[in-house]
Amino acid sequence: MGLQNYNLQERSFAQAMAEISVIIGPENLIQDPEKVRIKSEDIIPRTRQALAFAYPANIEQIQKILAVANQHLLPIWPVSQGKNWGYGGASPSENGTLVLGLEKMNKILEVNTELAFAVVEPGVSFRQLHSYLIENNIPLWIDCTDGPPEGSVMGNSLERGIGETDYGDHFGNICGMEVVLPDGTMLRTGGGPMENFRSWNTYKWGVGPSLDGLFSQSNFGIVTKMGVWLRPKPEKFLSCLFELKDPKNFSLLIDGLRHLQLQGVLQSKVHLINEVATRAVSVEDYNDPEQTLRGYKLPSWSFAAGLYGSNEQVRINARSIRAVLGPLGTLQFIDETKLKIINGLSRRLRSWKNKKALSGLSDWICQTLIGKPLPLMEILPHIHAIEQGYPNDHFVKHAYLKSKTPKPKTGDADPVRDHCGLVWFGPMVPLTGPAVSELLAIAEPLYKKFNFEFYVALMVGNARTAIVLLSIFYDKTNPTETARAENLYFALGKITQDQGYQQYRTSTLYMDKVFANAPEFLGFCKKLKKAIDPNGILAPGKYGI
Ligand code: ADP
Repeated sequence: MGLQNYNLQERSFAQAMAEISVIIGPENLIQDPEKVRIKSEDIIPRTRQALAFAYPANIEQIQKILAVANQHLLPIWPVSQGKNWGYGGASPSENGTLVLGLEKMNKILEVNTELAFAVVEPGVSFRQLHSYLIENNIPLWIDCTDGPPEGSVMGNSLERGIGETDYGDHFGNICGMEVVLPDGTMLRTGGGPMENFRSWNTYKWGVGPSLDGLFSQSNFGIVTKMGVWLRPKPEKFLSCLFELKDPKNFSLLIDGLRHLQLQGVLQSKVHLINEVATRAVSVEDYNDPEQTLRGYKLPSWSFAAGLYGSNEQVRINARSIRAVLGPLGTLQFIDETKLKIINGLSRRLRSWKNKKALSGLSDWICQTLIGKPLPLMEILPHIHAIEQGYPNDHFVKHAYLKSKTPKPKTGDADPVRDHCGLVWFGPMVPLTGPAVSELLAIAEPLYKKFNFEFYVALMVGNARTAIVLLSIFYDKTNPTETARAENLYFALGKITQDQGYQQYRTSTLYMDKVFANAPEFLGFCKKLKKAIDPNGILAPGKYGI
């Protein structure tokens, strides 16, 4: 762009800001460069700088902002809570974009107990929806992630995040969206009318082309309402913890998990983590891991899951799981009674550990009687909670693995504030032992080459697919290490893409490359984009579109 055009563009953007300020009120428009810089930060190695942050309060304001954006060719990046940590947070995929934060639109519009669904606005967080159900004594459970409890139900679903329970396929469990299109017109997915659409939140496919997918991992519209299916509180719930005995049996474990998932015995979104990941979630002081571990050897692989159903179903499923996985390692099922014992014991051991004279006794009991270091035992209640859709930030703390800031207390984790460095990379692979092992064998040498710890948290995306969630932890205050982390990230992207793997979602860093191996697919998306958003104002560059 010539200098003259550039100045014209700048003037036009200033005019657009002035108009948007009138629409939403100046207090809802952040333009101060330092505040904008801080808000554009994330824990990934590099983010793009937003132009400003705007917080509309309703659909009418969104429509007016879109009109201004179309007039001035101002790019807009919608976020719900903007806590998409490790994938870019609230930052856009191109510099100079206005971020449209929808957190003020945070009403729970409906909870239908009989049909087990809720209708939410963009800003509704996991914690808010969960608390609402508890406070109103509604016998429904949400599914949350092990990420920030203040993340939005909508943002995570639209990015196709994976949770924990049998309702953990978040995009799979939304039903009916209301969308504002780039030209300001409105649409309800499912093929129904804007008002009085009776099966909007109950029958996902509606009639005609199914449009929901168009508004996920894309830039075709701003979603303003969404139906989300909830889990009826089961008669019986158990959390379950498995530790693999011999790493040589990893392939058998994967095949066992597939068998249990295909049979419907184990339906929760199993998170199978390696030793580095276990250390990240359990060790209290990363500079002195022995302080926590006291010689205890962490399992090479372990997973947590939940069992849901009638008393009988859960009993039978637990038995089937034991039959398949029992020979491969240790399996532990936790119910409310056992949880109380664990909680009581942990509290007692923790209080001893904090007293100089009794600290040794506390360690001895953990090591010899329980066979687990105390912090590992203290994780169990958090697993038990999250498998019931109870959001908490205990697991967010593992983002501090390479941070200079000490791990905060549960409830105070904010990896962006504390300059943590972490970027997620989640290629998908068929859920078979050999296929998963093959992918790990491609990725691990790269971690060695770039000198990072090989962190794996494999998620069972469905009975046929594993999402091999890899993460790069780095010290963000060290520019050389940050650059090295970014190089590893791109190297992982390239090698896996060349071999036919695709990511289940990606960060703003990789969006321009994610379809490098699928030009036909990208070409079709671009054709649609031109038709729906001729001025290209909505989230340009999102997923390369
Ligand atoms: P979280 O809820 O985890 O904080 P975000 O709000 O950051 O998630 O949303 C993740 C991504 O999903 C955003 O970067 C944006 O691309 C997309 N997104 C979020 N909310 C909307 C929405 N209401 N309409 C369209 N896209 C959205």
